[in-house]
Amino acid sequence: MNKLKKKILILPIVVALISILSLVAFSFIYEPISYKPYNTFLNDLASNSVESVYYTTSPKITVKIANNVYYETDNPRVDTFKESILTQGVEVLEQSYMSPLKIIPIVLLGSSVGFILIFMIKGSNLSKGKLKSVDSLHAEAVEEMTLNFESVAGNEEAKESVMDVVDFLKNPEKYSSYGAKMPRGVILYGEPGTGKTLLAKAVAGEANVPFYAVSGSDFIQVYVGVGASRIRQLFKKAKSHGKAVIFIDEIDAIGKKRSGNASGGSDERDQTLNALLTEMSGFAEKEGIVVMAATNRLDMLDDALLRPGRFDRHIEVSLPDVQAREKILNLHMKNKPFDKININDWAKKTSYFSGAKLEHLVNEAAIFACKDESPLIEDIHLDSAFNVVVAGHEKKNRSHIREEDRKITAYHEAGHALISLIVLPEEKVSKVTIIPTTKGAGGYTMSIPEDKLYQNKEYILNRIMVLLGGRAAEEILFGKEKITTGASSDLKRTTNTIRNMITTYGMGDSLGLLTEEELGDLSHHHKMAILDECKNTVDTLYASVKDILKENMESLHCISNNLLEYETLDEEKLINCTIKNSENKKLKEI
Ligand code: ADP
Ligand code: ZN
Repeated sequence: MNKLKKKILILPIVVALISILSLVAFSFIYEPISYKPYNTFLNDLASNSVESVYYTTSPKITVKIANNVYYETDNPRVDTFKESILTQGVEVLEQSYMSPLKIIPIVLLGSSVGFILIFMIKGSNLSKGKLKSVDSLHAEAVEEMTLNFESVAGNEEAKESVMDVVDFLKNPEKYSSYGAKMPRGVILYGEPGTGKTLLAKAVAGEANVPFYAVSGSDFIQVYVGVGASRIRQLFKKAKSHGKAVIFIDEIDAIGKKRSGNASGGSDERDQTLNALLTEMSGFAEKEGIVVMAATNRLDMLDDALLRPGRFDRHIEVSLPDVQAREKILNLHMKNKPFDKININDWAKKTSYFSGAKLEHLVNEAAIFACKDESPLIEDIHLDSAFNVVVAGHEKKNRSHIREEDRKITAYHEAGHALISLIVLPEEKVSKVTIIPTTKGAGGYTMSIPEDKLYQNKEYILNRIMVLLGGRAAEEILFGKEKITTGASSDLKRTTNTIRNMITTYGMGDSLGLLTEEELGDLSHHHKMAILDECKNTVDTLYASVKDILKENMESLHCISNNLLEYETLDEEKLINCTIKNSENKKLKEI
């Protein structure tokens, strides 16, 4: 349909271009109308040879005499002019003269431009672009057919859970003959990049039905009522094809829990949500339409969405474990020329990587190999890619960095690394560098966390200490006045983690086992108590971090000096520094 539209547009565009060209050519070729004195005109008038006069208020008038000859003469500007020539039987045209050779291309140009404009306005459905994604879905739907469950590595439970949705899409009649109700709505939830969209596409591909994708954010921030009508259009379109998978990404944008005070919600969102619910209950069982939606957080969604008959099947798509990571890496490396790569090793190194991040890693490695003109992608390329994925590209031009800043960065990173080695010895610190990245970090310390299902309180506190290590080292070495902005993202993460401990994980005293979210609006008094507890926790941890660093000053100097010399240190060099100063003091209990 879209291609056809484009073809239809070609004709008026060509006509418009030809018209413009002929107008330009015309103005070059055509000789301007000759000028004759007013007396000549009067003579012609007297001899009855004037056929018509083009009479306007302009200084010149155009005169037509026999044999289609035209000339210009001066406008006499007398009130009785028109009457006097009319009485002599001359036609008076109150318009300026235009050659028919010019009129034709102008008319053609005008009508083709008009045609194009009307077509474009109609095509865009008067919307600001977004609705086009619904319009242009058909083409996309065909493309996606190629994906199937083989394109999704790992995620076995999730695949298992959608298997019968595929079966239902293939034979909706079978299910309805048993009186079985199939889910109309499936919610896929999990962290970004874990393959929720991929899984939905695979369902459509396996069932061989069209795939309609929209994003919840397309429906908000438009005029009231537009969101709802977009929903209706989407369903109408999908139904016109019979079976289909409708995929709504970021469903939370329209289906977020309504806030406590009922009147305060956004009307537009409610209307859109209601339209969605109405449409979903509107189609018959045997129609074979399944709505799949994705969100990062299931607990944010409005209960109305999750009720039976709506999105009643909830499937978690989780971050891949080490085996799944190996499968995903294998899948994405399949068609690339890799050399002796130990994929199992890389799967181990990439804990907490999502499928999308793994794909990104493999792709970056391929780019590095290509830049090197290496025939095969090797471990070193994956190494560089890993750094890029985790920390961003290295800044190439570093000449402008002041020596003083390099030193501060070196101690800051040494602080992180040293605290990590001491309080989290089971985690490998794979790299410390003071090479700034294009993402804005002055340097970074990279450690490889273990795959863990849960994080316990002790571990979380230790992680916070590692985060605080950078600022603490700065303060110890250069004094309170010289601390820098370099720690801002560390402090942000610290604050976030501590807050979560107290308000969400039930690990604090001010709320105990209660969670802030469920309690709703807290009184000022309670908010202050939470704030106090956050502040005390971070102060205590910071004090311990400073103590640990002071007790291990030699290691700190050693790591920083090495960093200043080599810029980047691996695990081995780091351990060398700490071995010399090996009696690690026991952590103070908090
Ligand atoms: P989400 O919708 O959960 O944010 P996507 O489905 O958009 O994630 O994933 C982005 C890309 O990451 C996919 O197109 C795919 O290439 C890759 N990917 C993610 N998970 C997997 C997986 N389990 N197997 C293979 N590729 C994956
Ligand atoms: Zn830092």
